[in-house]
Order: sequence, then C-alpha cells, then structure tokens
Amino acid sequence: MTPDQPETVSLYQQIDQASLSLDSSFTFQCHADLPCFNQCCRTPTIILSPYDLLRLKQGLGITSTALRERYTRQEIEPNSNLPLIFIDAYRSPEGGCPFLGAHGCTVYPHRPAACRLFPLTMGSRLTADGVEDHYFCRRLDYCQGFAGEAEWTVASWMANQGFGEYDLGRREWLEILLKAGLTEQLVVDAHIQDLFATLAYDLDKFRRLVFDPVFLEAYDAYDIKAEAMEDLRTDDLALLKFSYRYLPTVLSAEGAQKMTAVIRRSTRFFEVD
Ligand code: SF4
Ligand code: SF4
Repeated sequence: MTPDQPETVSLYQQIDQASLSLDSSFTFQCHADLPCFNQCCRTPTIILSPYDLLRLKQGLGITSTALRERYTRQEIEPNSNLPLIFIDAYRSPEGGCPFLGAHGCTVYPHRPAACRLFPLTMGSRLTADGVEDHYFCRRLDYCQGFAGEAEWTVASWMANQGFGEYDLGRREWLEILLKAGLTEQLVVDAHIQDLFATLAYDLDKFRRLVFDPVFLEAYDAYDIKAEAMEDLRTDDLALLKFSYRYLPTVLSAEGAQKMTAVIRRSTRFFEVD
C-alpha cells in the first residue's frame, strides 16, 4: 500500500462496531412459533457472493442468468467501484425476500452465507497482513431469538449453520474486491463492471465462453488437462474457482480489452440457455 491509500476497506458498514471473537458467546433460538417468525426476511439486505449464486442456481435448478434476472439486483460497491449482487427484496409490491414462502425460507438448504450467519454479521477488511474478519451481533428490535436458551459461540453457530463451505467458496472473490478498493490507480468503468459481473456472477455464460476455442486460444489454455476440462464442464465449483483466475485480469484496460475481443469472437457465449 502507498501512504496515500486508506488502511482498510470493508464491504460492510458494521466494521466500526465492537466486534466479537470466535469464542464470544450468545444465546439464540429461532423457531416457527415465535411472533417474529419470517419478519427478518421481509427487509433483508443480502449480498450474494459468486458461491451463493452457484448454490442457489443449483438448488432452484435454473441458470445463473435466470437467477440474476428473476431474483437479484446489482449495485456498485463504492470502494472498489465493482458490482455486487443483492437479493432483490423490493421487486414485488408487498416486498420481502422473493424466496420467502408462507412457511419460511423456500431455499433453506441453499440459503446464502449472510442468512446462515444471521443474527451474526461479518465484515472483512484488507490490511497489510491480509484479509481480517470481524464478527458482529445484529440485535434487531423485533427479533425474539435472543430470548431463547440455546447457547452458542460465534464458531459453534457458524459450524451449526454450515457457514464454512460458503465462506470458503467466496474467499478469492472477497479478496479481489477488497484489493480493488485499495488500488487507487484502478479505473473501473461501466465496461469493466459488466465484464466483472459476467465472470463472477454468471457461471453458465462463463462456461460457454471457456468451451469456445477462441477463449482457449486467447488465454493459451489448450494445455489444461482433459480431466480438468471435464471438471470445468460438469463441476460448477471447479468452474467458479477457474473464473476467479480471470477476475483480476479484467480490471485493467488492457485485460478488459482482451476479454471483450474474445467475447465478441465467441459464438457460444451468446447462445441462449
Ligand atoms: S427469531 Fe429473529 S431470526 Fe428468527 S425469525 Fe424471528 S426475527 Fe428472524
Ligand atoms: S434466502 Fe431465505 S433466509 Fe435468506 S432472506 Fe430469503 S427467505 Fe430469508
């Protein structure tokens, strides 16, 4: 970092609150008999990582393009100037998460990391020593879960909610965003934002691009072993990890130009799912 750069950047606003440690304890019990049941899903602010999108599209059995179009909205993250995807909770007149049904979350087994973590939230910042995570407790006035008797630590809550694999799947993306927020000379225009959004958040389009010979030729990727190629064809997670390699490359004017030229020459990229 140069002396002029800010010391930290965060995707979350709660970073200034007192944070918890992994051993911090709290009591919490959420269940369908509480009068507040589902209330927290009526005005949610949920950032979806590429891994969240992957799990949701698999769970719903739809393409990543359809998932983005039907259920999400995009906003630009102010520090990095890069796009973030949110669950679009304000699309219908009655509002609320589009995955909220009469009996609760309809995508519960595939719910995003932020939903798993709640009532905790996590803020991450990049320091000279790497990514630093901070945990916070979000005590919404109406949330009666804190009156429950079940005792947790931050670590045991995360384990219980299956947060770990969701966190692992988004780490590289998170670091790229945080780094971009600290890179003063980075000029992110609308074109770069579009490319970033496609690579990070539209896995099915990225797969079509990867299997187009123009991509393999441009990125000298012909030497990828047949087995790895088969993984990219059939395994969304392998493809997601592969896309993380290319995300930083489109953040420069030169890299963006190269990727754009490849996309323009690709016939498969523009195929409709
Ligand atoms: S207890 Fe809290 S987390 Fe559970 S439904 Fe009520 S408001 Fe939501
Ligand atoms: S995805 Fe499920 S848990 Fe998350 S806000 Fe929507 S309904 Fe609630």
